[in-house]
Amino acid sequence: MPSQTVLVTGAAGFLGSHLVDALLAEGHSVIGVDNLSTGKTANLNHLSLEPRFRFLSQDITQPFDPGPIDYVFNFASPASPVDYTRLGVETLQVGSSGTLNTLDIARRYKAGYLHASTSECYGDPEVHPQVETYWGHVNPVGPRSVYDEAKRFSEAAVMAYHRYYGVDTHLVRIFNTYGPRLQANDGRVISNFMIQALKGEPLTIYGDGSQTRSFCYVSDLIDGIVRLSRSEEHMPVNIGNPVEWTIVECAQEILAVTGSKSEVVRKPLPQDDPTRRRPDITRARTLLGWEPTISLREGLQRSLDYFRASIG
Ligand code: UDP
Repeated sequence: MPSQTVLVTGAAGFLGSHLVDALLAEGHSVIGVDNLSTGKTANLNHLSLEPRFRFLSQDITQPFDPGPIDYVFNFASPASPVDYTRLGVETLQVGSSGTLNTLDIARRYKAGYLHASTSECYGDPEVHPQVETYWGHVNPVGPRSVYDEAKRFSEAAVMAYHRYYGVDTHLVRIFNTYGPRLQANDGRVISNFMIQALKGEPLTIYGDGSQTRSFCYVSDLIDGIVRLSRSEEHMPVNIGNPVEWTIVECAQEILAVTGSKSEVVRKPLPQDDPTRRRPDITRARTLLGWEPTISLREGLQRSLDYFRASIG
C-alpha cells in the first residue's frame, strides 16, 4: 500500500508503541501523541533517530491539529485496572473528549480511523464466549465503570461519526494482551506474576483463581488490528486469543516458564472482577483471515528478557 502519514494516540504505551513500530516497518510516517500519564518515553527511545517518526507531547482531551494525516489510531487511555482506578476522571475524559477530538481530526482530513475498544465493554459477561453482538453486563457505577463506560461512550461516538459524517471508522475490541513493554508495575496479572516469579516472591492470586482470561501475544494482536484498519468493516471486531486459562493455570505456566520456585498466596478478589473472559473470534477469522499463532507458553518465553531487565 502507498505510504501514509498516520497519527497514533497513546503512542508511548504498550500497544501504541508496538503499533508505531509495525507502521514504520511498513514504510509509513508516524506522528505519535502521548501525554505520558501512563505511557513511557522508554517505549519510543529506539526511534530517536528515525526520520519518519515524530513525537508530540499532547493531552488529546485538549483540541489539537497535527496537520494533514491519512489515518488515526486512537489508543490513548489508562488501561490497567490499577491505572484507570487511580486516574478515574482522566480515563473518563480521554474516552469522551479525547475520542471526540481525534474523530474531529479524522473528519477534517478525511482520514481513516480505528479506535482501541475493549472486552470490558462486555463487563462480567453472561454470554460465553463473547460475541460482538452481545451488549454486555456492565456495572455503570462500580469501580471499573470509569473505564468500561468511557470505552462504551467511545464506541457510540465512533459509530456516530461514521453514521452522521461518513468517517471510515473501525472498532477493535481488544482482549487481554501481554508481551515486552507491558508495564512492569501496572498491577496486571501477567506482569505481576512474571515479576514475582523472577524475584522469587509469592504469586498473588486474587480470589480462588478460578476466574478466567484469554491472553494474546502482542505481535498477534497488532497484526489483527492492522488488518482491521484496512478492511471495510465498521462494526466491532474482537481481537484476542480464544484459548482460555484460569488464573491458577496462568500462575502455573509462569512458574514453568521462569523455572521459579515461588509459592502462591491468596488476596481478596477486586470488586466486579469479571469471572470469565474469552473472545469468539469468528468475525476476525472470516472478515480478516486472522487468528493468533503464538501460544501462551511461547509468548511468555518471548517476554522473559523484558521482564528480567525490568527488575534490574
Ligand atoms: N489477578 C490476580 N493477581 C494479580 C493480578 C491480577 O489474580 O496479581 C487477576 C485479576 O483478579 C483478574 C485477572 O487476574 O481476575 C486479570 O487481571 P488484570 O488486572 O490483568 O486485567 P483484567 O482482565 O481484570 O482487566
